[in-house]
Order: sequence, then C-alpha cells, then structure tokens
Amino acid sequence: MIRRLSIGKEHRNAVLRHAESQLPLEACGLLAGRDGRVEKVIPVRNQAQSPVRFVMDPYEQLAAFDWIDSLGLDLLGIFHSHPAGPETASVTDIAEAAYEVVHVICSRVGMQWTLRGFWIENGQATEIPLLSADS
Ligand SMILES: [Zn+2]
Repeated sequence: MIRRLSIGKEHRNAVLRHAESQLPLEACGLLAGRDGRVEKVIPVRNQAQSPVRFVMDPYEQLAAFDWIDSLGLDLLGIFHSHPAGPETASVTDIAEAAYEVVHVICSRVGMQWTLRGFWIENGQATEIPLLSADS
C-alpha cells in the first residue's frame, strides 16, 4: 500500500488543465514517477465520454504503460475528474478499481477544483495525503 503521494504544483496544474479541457465530461489519466513522487502526468481519453463515469481508452492506456516502462518509471496513480463532485471515490470507483495505485480524484464544486488521493482495497477507499513535492 502506498501511504502518500507527492505531486508538485506543475503536475497538479496539468491534472486540472486536463480536467477543465474535458468538461462537462469526466477526464482521466495516469500518474507516473519514482519513490512516490509524481514525475509525469499522462492524460488518457475517456472512452465512456460521460459526465459521470470513465473508462480509459485501452489502446492509449497500453501505450502509456509502455512509455512509463521505457522511462524506467512506475505507475503511481490513476486520476479522474468528478466535474460535479463528489470529492470522494464513488461506489463505481471502488467497484472498478483494478490497479494497486493511488486513485486521485479531481472534483469540481462550483468553480473550485480539489485534488484528493485514495487507496482502494477490499471494497474500501482510504484517503491518503497528497503532498506538495515543491517543499
Ligand atoms: Zn469517480
């Protein structure tokens, strides 16, 4: 289990920009890095093209996995957006969590975006801290 994830301002902004760009649909993508520190944000097309769920395009996802491997990085997280909230993992998110990585949810309430991280295991989502990698 990963207990924390460091994600610097530049990478947070990359997640938020992608989430904004896909509105009103959910956006999704991968977070890769080393030692729990995010170094790459890789947007992946939401094949579901839905405002309430996401399915990563399998070809883009595979290509991203290969790229992460070629850089010698690890898959640390999967992010997706909740354009109309909530800030926490949904029942579907918990049911469909297929990888042992941090699930980062980028939620929008009003005009405000929030990033929160969750570890999902055995049907339960446990919040884990997202640290600023800048400090
Ligand atoms: Zn979700």
